[in-house]
Amino acid sequence: MTTTDSSSDHAGLRLAAAEPELLAGSIRSAGLKVTAPRLAVLRALTDRPHSNADALFGLVHAGLPGTSLQAVYGVLASFTTAGLVRKIEPAGSPALFERRVGDNHHHIVCTRCNVVHDVDCAVGHAPCLTPADALGFDVRAAEVIYWGLCSSCQAATSNP
Ligand SMILES: [Zn+2]
Ligand SMILES: [Zn+2]
Repeated sequence: MTTTDSSSDHAGLRLAAAEPELLAGSIRSAGLKVTAPRLAVLRALTDRPHSNADALFGLVHAGLPGTSLQAVYGVLASFTTAGLVRKIEPAGSPALFERRVGDNHHHIVCTRCNVVHDVDCAVGHAPCLTPADALGFDVRAAEVIYWGLCSSCQAATSNP
């Protein structure tokens, strides 16, 4: 009924295109100019979906020491605006970013260790864009976040 941890990894495999030419192609097709920081951020996001800006900065800075945290924020903002990257904002957590866009998938978050996984629609097919009453809105996206304890945290809390 609920998802398993493996659901997030399928998306990772599908997006495992970390070759520089492929990354550059994605950036160009989003209508953006290819720059070294943009390439580095997109590569980091390919490796680590659901990362926050600080974590991405750590990854990018390791390979591109001239990059500032501010520059990483700028890249993420342009990627998000261009639709290349999706921003998710679980309550109480900094914004997280991922490359899996356009399918309106949901997220499941562990309340103990904060691990985040992708979840496809629980019932029916994605995207879940049909509220009981849309109140006249032209609905473009729906966001569901499931909260709970991941399997490792359940194991840790039952065997202290
Ligand atoms: Zn956990
Ligand atoms: Zn996701």
